[in-house]
Amino acid sequence: MCDGHGQCSVVDMDLFPLDDDGRSAVGPDREVPAGEEDVARLGVAACPVRALAVRG
Ligand code: SF4
Repeated sequence: MCDGHGQCSVVDMDLFPLDDDGRSAVGPDREVPAGEEDVARLGVAACPVRALAVRG
């Protein structure tokens, strides 16, 4: 679903890396590191096409 807007990566480029085409390189089983839950939620909320979600 990623459309390459890059807004997730603007929030945190380590948590939301992009591939060479500017699309999200976050896979479906990516674990959120302990203590980074809030920034993960911010990155998810920044996506204009709702390509990201936090489970659990
Ligand atoms: S996941 Fe969303 S915010 Fe991140 S690069 Fe893709 S479209 Fe942009």
